[in-house]
Amino acid sequence: MKVKVIGFWGAYPEAEGATSSYLLEEDGYSLLVDCGSGALSRLQKDIEVTDLDALILSHYHHDHVADIGSLQYASLVQSYLREDTPVLPIYGHQANLDYFYTLTHKRTQGLPYDPDEVLNIGPFTITFLQTQHPVPCYAMRITNGHYTIVYTADTSYFDALIDFSKHADLLIAECSFYEGMDGSGPGHMTSDECGKLAQAAGVKQLWLTHLPHFGNIEQLKIEAGKYYSGRIDIAQEALTFHA
Ligand SMILES: [Zn+2]
Ligand SMILES: [Zn+2]
Repeated sequence: MKVKVIGFWGAYPEAEGATSSYLLEEDGYSLLVDCGSGALSRLQKDIEVTDLDALILSHYHHDHVADIGSLQYASLVQSYLREDTPVLPIYGHQANLDYFYTLTHKRTQGLPYDPDEVLNIGPFTITFLQTQHPVPCYAMRITNGHYTIVYTADTSYFDALIDFSKHADLLIAECSFYEGMDGSGPGHMTSDECGKLAQAAGVKQLWLTHLPHFGNIEQLKIEAGKYYSGRIDIAQEALTFHA
């Protein structure tokens, strides 16, 4: 199982960067989790657009879905060039039906997930937890049967994240603010909350992502490290978990 950072900025991408997007690969199957601004360009450093098997979305904020239109055009153009191009499934929740319906385009098919049910996509089994965010948003616990990663998506801290993240091999935690700040209004976490979550859940390693555009982001790692004794990485393009 391989997990690679495609985009890691919160809100908007800095120069040559991308917002939230992560590529999961297992046995030749490629699943993209979120598709933020700049993701499509960066994804193609790793795989062809036509080699993407599925996309799943945590929520419909722009920094997680901005490149879906481009992905739909890419799928369409490639279908003209290669007859065997499959229709790309895009999994999303149905709490915002207007947006959900836009996931279906000529060569993409919007497919609903029920956050109360277990979802199987290719080799991956996914369970969901609704987060605390201004719009419906779902954290994901994703396993291949041997290894488990947890992606918090966008959320402020709440205790149920601990059980949901329990003993994960990798916790990908959104870290939009520094220690001492309050992210609960816009629905985001601080570095110390990420560290405390990782420690309480007993995860094997922690990635801090959905990074802020102010301050020194290396400071986030120092702050989270006061509360978590395991390995911490600040997300950057191509950061990879390999198990
Ligand atoms: Zn959001
Ligand atoms: Zn976001």
